[in-house]
Amino acid sequence: LLNHSKRAILETLIEMGPQSRAALAEALGLSRAALSGLSRDLIDAGVLREAELNRDASRLGRPAILLELNASHAYFIGVSIEQPDCVMLLADLHGNILGEGRFPLTRDPEALAREIARAVPPLTEAAGLAAGKIKGKIKGMSVVLSGFVNHAQDTCLNSAILGWRDVPLARLVETASGLPTVLENNANAVAVGEKLFGRGREVSDFSVVTFGEGIGCALYLGGRLYRGHSGGAGEIAHSTIEPGGLPCRCGKRGCLDTIASANAIIGAAREQGLVADTPQQIEDLAKSGDSYAIRVLHRAGNALGLAISHLIQMNNPERVVIASVGGNMGNLLRTVTKQSIDAYVLPELGSMTDIRFDDVERNFWARGAAACAAYRYLTDFADDGVVDAA
Ligand SMILES: [Zn+2]
Repeated sequence: LLNHSKRAILETLIEMGPQSRAALAEALGLSRAALSGLSRDLIDAGVLREAELNRDASRLGRPAILLELNASHAYFIGVSIEQPDCVMLLADLHGNILGEGRFPLTRDPEALAREIARAVPPLTEAAGLAAGKIKGKIKGMSVVLSGFVNHAQDTCLNSAILGWRDVPLARLVETASGLPTVLENNANAVAVGEKLFGRGREVSDFSVVTFGEGIGCALYLGGRLYRGHSGGAGEIAHSTIEPGGLPCRCGKRGCLDTIASANAIIGAAREQGLVADTPQQIEDLAKSGDSYAIRVLHRAGNALGLAISHLIQMNNPERVVIASVGGNMGNLLRTVTKQSIDAYVLPELGSMTDIRFDDVERNFWARGAAACAAYRYLTDFADDGVVDAA
């Protein structure tokens, strides 16, 4: 019961941000005395700290004392498997990034695991946190990739991009690096990152759709990441949008990914004889009135909006964050996507859904990965009753 309550305290702080003891006790149905004792243990263990808020001079009375996660209690490595370069970063418990590095993608799993392990020491040194200060405080690593992941076994079941089947990558990386390692689908990792450190913090039902080379999607339902029965929940990229359409790398035809991903948009534009290497260049052509460019973007936005309207009908999220990697999604594509959502979704549902477009840095997959490692650490921390020796 004790560990269950500590876990609940940590999870509430992860999900809601800093809280007063009174608010926490109420949220968890604990007495003030019980909460004080439990939080004292967690403060002594170094995972929580007290923070003063409401230092507004115009307000009288004592400043509120809030409990929050102690940022420097533990550090985490987030790794995103991407081509041509993988991204690795070091983050604290608040998601602050302390260092970042890159290394080339190797498709051989064992070689990749060694590459990841080799990249850790230079990263921590570059972050100026070598030796004493954080030695032993790196508590875990998370590796994220595009593909199906068996979360319980930390195995990549299938990744079309990497050409992998049943690769136990977490175990390989753990062996090579000596750090506890979790494996996660990259869109799921982004949703965890939004929940812990970002724009999903105050909502418990939200969806993240990522627009990049491919399309990714993850669902938070009732305050939890929803993976589905075998890790495939939210796989809208391979929903058939155009029966009998273009072949997809998954083996089917007419998937959303074959129409609306950045790669598909570039492919379709080239098919029309346009010269373009990025969706932004196609946006520029559309802006100058090129009818082929306009048509390609309309087709993509229509398809993306249709898929998102289904997502909204199915899950009734409070918010949908459409994140475009490296500012890849221009104004026309956004506008058409939004119009398409509005056209296909039930008006009652659509009007209650907050649709947000967001430009995100290329490192946001890796940032999500670090969030996954932090989440796993914090929940294990409460389960094991681990008390940091430092
Ligand atoms: Zn497909």
